[in-house]
Amino acid sequence: MLLKAIFSCRDCGVTYESGAPLHVGHIKPRSRYPELALELSNLQILCSECNIGKSNRSETSNFSLSN
Ligand SMILES: [Zn+2]
Repeated sequence: MLLKAIFSCRDCGVTYESGAPLHVGHIKPRSRYPELALELSNLQILCSECNIGKSNRSETSNFSLSN
């Protein structure tokens, strides 16, 4: 199922089914890119652990594609 693939942490791959709390976030902030708010490619799913780790790094703008 597509949804199953979507609902897993993009960092560590833990799935919603395994009981991990997942957070949906926007790669590009919705406030600045409202047109991307519903764009699947602009969504990132993180488990709470990775989400906390990410906010500790305090940077949302250093997202980069690897090519
Ligand atoms: Zn994770």
